Amino acid sequence: MKKEKKFQTNAIHGGYDCQQFEGSLTPPLFQTSTYVFNSALEGERRFSGEEDGMIYSRLGNPTVRLLEDRMALLEGGAKGLAFGSGMAAVSAVLMHHVKKDSHILCSKGIYGCTYGLLTWLKEKFNISFNLSNMQTKEELHESINDKTSCIFIETPINPTMEVIDLTMVVEVAKERGIPVIVDNTFCSPYLQSPLTMGCDFVVHSATKYIGGHGDVVAGILVGQNEEDIVAIAGNERKDIGGIMSPFDAWLLLRGLKTLHVRMDRHCENAEFIAQKLQQHKNIETVIYPSLLTGDKKRIIDSQMKKPGGIISFTIKGDKQEAQTLLDHLQLIKVAVSLGDTESLIQHPATMTHAVVPENERQNMGITDNLIRLSVGLESWEDIWEDLEQALNVISTDRV
Ligand SMILES: *Cc1c(COP(=O)(O)O)cnc(C)c1O
Repeated sequence: MKKEKKFQTNAIHGGYDCQQFEGSLTPPLFQTSTYVFNSALEGERRFSGEEDGMIYSRLGNPTVRLLEDRMALLEGGAKGLAFGSGMAAVSAVLMHHVKKDSHILCSKGIYGCTYGLLTWLKEKFNISFNLSNMQTKEELHESINDKTSCIFIETPINPTMEVIDLTMVVEVAKERGIPVIVDNTFCSPYLQSPLTMGCDFVVHSATKYIGGHGDVVAGILVGQNEEDIVAIAGNERKDIGGIMSPFDAWLLLRGLKTLHVRMDRHCENAEFIAQKLQQHKNIETVIYPSLLTGDKKRIIDSQMKKPGGIISFTIKGDKQEAQTLLDHLQLIKVAVSLGDTESLIQHPATMTHAVVPENERQNMGITDNLIRLSVGLESWEDIWEDLEQALNVISTDRV
């Protein structure tokens, strides 16, 4: 039996045999839209499914497939599926689960566009959804009804860093026969493995840590049940068409090779910055997983390898001070997205979560003085120096 390799090794070699490609160390880029059949009969057999093989790149592509296989290996799932964006992956897996009048149960915070998607699904197709704290089994049982088709979770929640106990959710979900989908973008497969904890699907915005260099928009879905993924490939992905380009898959394969090294440094830098932020006079609260205590700390320690590279914090002040802070940064870039080599900062209330209605936003903990920082791979001293000088500019007179 083949001995199982460690994460770091799989991230670099998983699923690829260079001897099949003239010894090419790096996986080849199959930049092609279609594939030539040797005969009409071969074409017929491929279409009927009697014979395996490539047909057309919306249905499959060797470079994309290698990425899918490698991601399935890294997440500990049965099969992966690549998409043109994180939202294409999120919408495909949700579409797969809902029917007319379905209900979707979500964690208290979800990505702004996931919220937007659910809102228009509700208006157009009478699909309902609600956000739950998911802190206790009772709370979960109460939020589930007989129309609940799936549970959709982010943990830690973007951008408030609330955590959800995946083991607890899985227990309830299994009892009620409801699949669990986790948006694992913030952690990447290196820090958290929901599938190995019993969840059914993991989605990623590969735009973030997996790509890691700010040059690709892409998404990935990995499932524990191969049949589900094959169905999504043949329906939601093939017919709605949100596929990943071969070149993007090639860039992501390159990104994956250094994921573990980058993540380690993102986490180390974030740890330093979180400590420094806590001591600044113009900061109200710092929200970073390693600063959590009690039950939340227990959850973090049991399901995350390290606390991640994203810090949220509230400043003493309001929207105006938040914008002043952002406008005075020089090294740290004001931009949405996260997980890049560059440190990126944004104001959730007016940017990533602007689509969420004000009362719901307050409910999620996204106040006007909340700021999200994706700590990059620059020297942490330089990142802090930039933050500190900008924080010093905020006037705290009016608070
Ligand atoms: C960015 C992001 C998405 C959406 O991904 P895209 O690649 O931008 O479509 C979904 N979930 C989370 C948590 C994200 O950060």
